[in-house]
Amino acid sequence: MATGPELYDVAIIGGGPGGITAGLYAARGEMKCILMDKGALGGTMLLASRYDNFPGYPGGVQTFELAQAMEDHLREYKIEINLENVTALKYLGDGPLFEIVGESANYHAKTVVIATGGTPRPLPAEGAEKFFGRGVSTCAVCDGAFFKGKKVAVVGGGDSAVEEAVYLTRYVDSVSVIHRRDELRAKPEIQKRAFENSKVEIIWDSVVVEVKGDDKVSGIVVKNVKTDELTDVEVDGVFVYVGNTGNTEFIELEIDKDEFGYIRTDRMGASNIPGLFAVGDVRGEPFKQAIIACGQGCQAALMAGKYIIEI
Ligand code: NAP
Repeated sequence: MATGPELYDVAIIGGGPGGITAGLYAARGEMKCILMDKGALGGTMLLASRYDNFPGYPGGVQTFELAQAMEDHLREYKIEINLENVTALKYLGDGPLFEIVGESANYHAKTVVIATGGTPRPLPAEGAEKFFGRGVSTCAVCDGAFFKGKKVAVVGGGDSAVEEAVYLTRYVDSVSVIHRRDELRAKPEIQKRAFENSKVEIIWDSVVVEVKGDDKVSGIVVKNVKTDELTDVEVDGVFVYVGNTGNTEFIELEIDKDEFGYIRTDRMGASNIPGLFAVGDVRGEPFKQAIIACGQGCQAALMAGKYIIEI
């Protein structure tokens, strides 16, 4: 007899700190649970180097170690973990029932937790796309070592830009942070580390209008937004940290999203679609932190359990 897709109480899409915590709570709560991620578990934790403020780790923790510890903890419970890409999320009604379309199979679930995080926004400058992977990068941890002894630029003034500028100084001779205002958005303690580092220079009130080079990047053209003056700056690499967009394109539902694709939820993580929750960086909230994603993952799993009892 032919059988349809497997039915789960909770399907979690995304295996960063939010998805892993949702999985832990759902599986420990005896819900039949599947977690899917297109790559290794850990999410954006794997793109950072270390966390100094994750509770329980005095002296800081390497993020890949934290990700591994979270995965090991999750695997202590009965949960299916599928490392495959989810290409679509549909609503079948009658149940209510969601269908998750994976690359190898389809799955049905009574509730879904979206924990798919965000993707770095591209640099809106001529040549930035052309040189992506040939000097333009959005990941200092992945690519910083290629720039040993060189000069690089970092674009942006948020926590990521400033923190990664300081991280890059372990490899490069100098980092120019190009920021469009006269004040950084980054947290004061992160700013302090940059101001105290002699390899970091900040070019204020400026945007990158062009990335130049032949095969690879050789420089950028920077425009002062107050004077309109254009300046050539010689760099071998450009690290872009101008924010993110929510990874929500696969959701084939009338879900409430903002202009950057972030899912809007209530304070418990419920979206406008009954049974569908969102946690972590895929939510349009100002503070994107692993610890916040964990809290939201816990909340969403508990809410999913409550929802299943009530429907
Ligand atoms: P973000 O906070 O959104 O900052 C983006 C930066 O890019 C801002 O400084 C913004 O300038 C600038 N920007 C945006 N569009 C631009 C454009 N077209 N051209 C030039 N500059 C542009 O993004 P993020 O730094 O990636 O941080 C995202 C979230 O992760 C935040 O909640 C942050 O707190 C968190 N985070 C935390 C840590 C930590 O706690 N250690 C580390 C990394 C990230 P304006 O300032 O003028 O808007």
